[in-house]
Amino acid sequence: MEQKKESGPVYDVIIVGGGPGGLTAGLYASRGGLKTLLLEGESSVSQITVTDLVENYPGFPEGINGYDLIERFKTQSRQFGLTILADDIREISPRSEGEEPEIGWFVKGGRNNYRALAVILATGANWRRLGVPGEEAFVGKGVSYCATCDGPFYREREVVVVGGGDTAVQEALFLTRFARKVTIVHRRDRLRATPLLQERAFANERIEFAWDSVVEEIQGKDFVEGVKIKNLRNPEMSKVIPVDGAFVFVGLTPNTGFVRQLVACDESGYILADSEMKTSAKGIFACGDCISKLLRQVVTACGDAATAAFSAQLYVEDLKGDTYVGRSS
Ligand code: NAP
Repeated sequence: MEQKKESGPVYDVIIVGGGPGGLTAGLYASRGGLKTLLLEGESSVSQITVTDLVENYPGFPEGINGYDLIERFKTQSRQFGLTILADDIREISPRSEGEEPEIGWFVKGGRNNYRALAVILATGANWRRLGVPGEEAFVGKGVSYCATCDGPFYREREVVVVGGGDTAVQEALFLTRFARKVTIVHRRDRLRATPLLQERAFANERIEFAWDSVVEEIQGKDFVEGVKIKNLRNPEMSKVIPVDGAFVFVGLTPNTGFVRQLVACDESGYILADSEMKTSAKGIFACGDCISKLLRQVVTACGDAATAAFSAQLYVEDLKGDTYVGRSS
């Protein structure tokens, strides 16, 4: 690939990703006095922006809409000088010999190329697909990965939600505001979701469950008309559920494809970051849903991000020879 020569500024830190992790890293880095650029996706949005209600982020006892929360994050980080641009980042590579300065990274986007001494990866994760016949064909025609976006189309209709985690149950509850019946199809006989969400789902008269069942096919002509499920314990209970919509929430897949040759990842593609949010590549840090960890929440993304920004600050100050804390690693 032809390498475009850059004449733009050399940033201290470039953050890739505009979700809670990226914006918190942006807040801390810019408030810490670093020249910081945040690149948010141009063709994708953070999962949180399509979340109707976040009710476990501290400080908002009534809960807060995900989009509103992100707007608050942006306002706060911009107050400290963070520059936010939209560009889909395709590649990150070491700066080549002869480039000034020689240490640092090239960040290549669809619109522009950028330069920085350090990079923080906060690329998040995206919805995993089921991979069954009919799923791709009916995206936008009854298959959805976003209840907030598409729920209102299903007023007084019947829908299926696939999955048994927090997302599936939370979104199923949200869908009951519109749909007259929501069937949660789950491959086991118990939910993975947190007990509070389970209680709410079991108490909701509009929610039914198809336990021990997997989706085999999503059927229809022009739009979804039914979801064919197979009961894993009792094949005789396999059937087609006649519905207008299928909402798929079967977990996440990390947005790390473009950095898998650059930083070490686990077997699922999540970036391996240490307790200081350092990756295997010097000068590259990571935080939020894209890293390998136990709990993916807004609050944990923010925590990782503050650490990543502070580590990046120490790294940059060390490079420039003006470290205050006095650490060299
Ligand atoms: P998740 O916790 O990984 O759950 C995925 C669910 O999909 C599981 O029930 C899993 O079944 C099922 N599944 C996976 N692959 C499947 C397949 N091929 N076919 C059928 N079912 C499949 O994912 P998530 O619910 O999206 O949550 C992701 C993270 O965000 C979690 O850390 C979660 O706690 C967090 N989150 C938190 C909140 C909240 O706090 N309010 C809300 C949303 C998300 P098994 O159970 O059998 O593995």
